[in-house]
Amino acid sequence: MLPTRGYAAMAVGSPMEPFNFSRRDVGPHDVLIQIQYCGICHSDLHQVRDEWGGSVFPLVPGHEIVGTVKQIGSAVTAFHLGETAGVGCFVDSCRECLPCRQGLEQYCERHCVFTYNGTEMDGHTPTYGGYSNQIVVDERYVLRIPERLAPERAAPLLCAGITTYSPLRYWSVGKEHRLGVVGLGGLGHMAIKFGMAFGAEVTVFSHSEHKRGDAKRLGAANFADTSNPETFSKLTRHFDVIIDTVSAAHDYSAYLELLKTDGTMILVGAPDKPAPLEAFPLIMRRRRLVGSMIGGIRETQDMLDFCATHDIVSDVEVIAIQQIDTAYERMLKGDVRYRFVIDLKSLA
Ligand code: NAP
Ligand code: ZN
Ligand code: ZN
Repeated sequence: MLPTRGYAAMAVGSPMEPFNFSRRDVGPHDVLIQIQYCGICHSDLHQVRDEWGGSVFPLVPGHEIVGTVKQIGSAVTAFHLGETAGVGCFVDSCRECLPCRQGLEQYCERHCVFTYNGTEMDGHTPTYGGYSNQIVVDERYVLRIPERLAPERAAPLLCAGITTYSPLRYWSVGKEHRLGVVGLGGLGHMAIKFGMAFGAEVTVFSHSEHKRGDAKRLGAANFADTSNPETFSKLTRHFDVIIDTVSAAHDYSAYLELLKTDGTMILVGAPDKPAPLEAFPLIMRRRRLVGSMIGGIRETQDMLDFCATHDIVSDVEVIAIQQIDTAYERMLKGDVRYRFVIDLKSLA
């Protein structure tokens, strides 16, 4: 076993603290990655606080992992020593069910092994995430990070990036489309970048005026402050697609009214509490309310390659691992510009 250092929450809501644990030895198909950077996702915070239920402690979060390949198993063919590699939200799956065979491993019907707060395929060995110095992952679940992408700015692509790229692709967002992005945080700022790259006209919905300048700087055509009730009356039936990235419960029906006939509202934000939903906004104009979770390995690699071609990376604030609790507090207040990324050198 490989002695590994990280940071963990030892119990629900407790501060993050140093935690030593073991990774498995490198098997024939495994890649050992020395972690350089790990992004902080709001899902880390939901799980550290057990807001979704079922969190298991100690919990080492982190699923936006980029680092250097330090060791490869005897059968590994896709990676070589010294290369920059990434790991996203899951590290294994059954590989046999229909979703797995379709490259939709995140929807595996038997067992998607989440990168942390999950169990390995044996059903009991806990998984620990990227707030740590190294990780061992089967090469099939490892991503190539194109050289053009700065590693600290590429890390958030592995969750915030793919979570927004995948549904915008699936629902064919493109030219002539008006796209609404609700919530300007980690996911939201990536949704703006992809929406624009796909040719859509992007409007950002934010719950105050604070981020108006940033939304414009990021390239959004319009900004809408949702604390102003006029926002909703002015934009009725304006959008083809709305992607909702908000981490706290809110009224979905108000946004559904902003869709055209046959418009689609995509939920990716995962609040812990249920929210109101009325039937009429859906019925009256045949609108759709859909969800989406991250993306499969093949599509994640496509997204990374697309980002390299189109110069898309995340806007990041790099922090030392000792600052995680402060970063969580700021994230809770919506004060992230636009992804915190941990520099794992600080773990030394
Ligand atoms: P984040 O950086 O904290 O951004 C969330 C944004 O939501 C905030 O910046 C804020 O935007 C808005 N917001 C937060 N609290 C609000 C409130 N009380 N009222 C109105 N707006 C509020 O979080 P993130 O990392 O982007 O994650 C967003 C959500 O997506 C989380 O629930 C996370 O668990 C989930 N997620 C889902 C998937 C998936 O596969 N579906 C993947 C990753 C994350 P404004 O300040 O602009 O209003
Ligand atoms: Zn995430
Ligand atoms: Zn499967």
